[in-house]
Amino acid sequence: QKLGVALVGLGSYSTYQLAPALQDTEHCYLAGIVTGTPAKARTWQAKYNLDPEHCYSYETYDQIAQDDAIAIVYVVLPNSMHAEFAIRAAQAGKHVICEKPMGMNVAECDAIIAACQEAGVKLGMGYRLQSEPYTQEIKKYVREKTFGAVRFVSADAAYISRGNPNQWRLDRSLSGGGALMNMGVYSIQSCIYSCGMNPLTVSAQEFSTRPEYFRDTDETITAQFTFPNGVVGQMMTSHNASANRLYGSCDSGWFELQPANNYGPLSGRTSSGSISFPHESQQKLQMDDFASHILYDTPNRAPGEMGKRDMIIVEAIYQSIKEGGREITLNLPQEYGIV
Ligand code: NAD
Repeated sequence: QKLGVALVGLGSYSTYQLAPALQDTEHCYLAGIVTGTPAKARTWQAKYNLDPEHCYSYETYDQIAQDDAIAIVYVVLPNSMHAEFAIRAAQAGKHVICEKPMGMNVAECDAIIAACQEAGVKLGMGYRLQSEPYTQEIKKYVREKTFGAVRFVSADAAYISRGNPNQWRLDRSLSGGGALMNMGVYSIQSCIYSCGMNPLTVSAQEFSTRPEYFRDTDETITAQFTFPNGVVGQMMTSHNASANRLYGSCDSGWFELQPANNYGPLSGRTSSGSISFPHESQQKLQMDDFASHILYDTPNRAPGEMGKRDMIIVEAIYQSIKEGGREITLNLPQEYGIV
């Protein structure tokens, strides 16, 4: 059995990653689209053999409730639109995948989680790395203490933005923030799964070197975490640096992924040698995991609570920066959002 997926928003991620991945998925397939551009709808219908009956505009979106071919709605819009379109999908009785970051703030994450609970539908985040083998391997090292107890973790997720200064990612009203909202979730998550638990506190700093380009959003952010088991973590995220790495130092060894969070193939080393897995589309693995969660009750690898947990940390990082780097206590339950 294969579940029908409708992609909402046919920008670059849907076009170049998700739709191609949906040609190879085992438990789901591309059944429909939601787009504001009629010409795009026609191109996609021809390319992917989509029945126009399952293609919607933003105006006709809610009619998806009557469309039995669509089981999962995948929201791939600018961040400011995630909550509205995820909530309307849930109200239409569809399971929801929401791209990262989950929303603009924690209140929006709560509203999405509540709407899915009320409608009795499943909610997953577009966290492709949670289904990815190198990431699973790091989690295993931490769980099994392969290199002894972890003492220090470090994670960077950054790229240099040189494009149109008016793109939505650099407009706070559409993105909710800059590098931290875009790439920051990767650094935050890397620190968490390299240590196996949620942080207790965070302190953060912001750096700006191209204020004429990053007029409205954060350019570079560093942050330091403390964890309940005594581990110290540090992270960097930036729209003006090139970095893609995770490192964990343990009592009797270390592990590293570099790159750690791009579309792959990822690459890894440890104090005992290199690690290597065959490359598969991360998006394929992620969407199959979510469809299999719905069909066969397998674990939800990226539940809404994980998206909300990350947003709690994002808000605390912005708060710390506003208060000159003050250490903020997170009050996260130790297992909250951890899979
Ligand atoms: P994009 O700019 O390429 O596409 C955005 C889409 O939204 C376009 O089709 C655009 O027409 C549509 N749109 C509707 N209303 C809009 C508005 N008011 N302003 C701008 N666009 C509007 O963006 P993208 O890279 O596809 O990112 C979409 C979402 O996917 C974001 O939330 C992003 O964080 C997420 N994303 C996730 C990953 C990942 O690896 N998980 C990778 C890329 C993007």
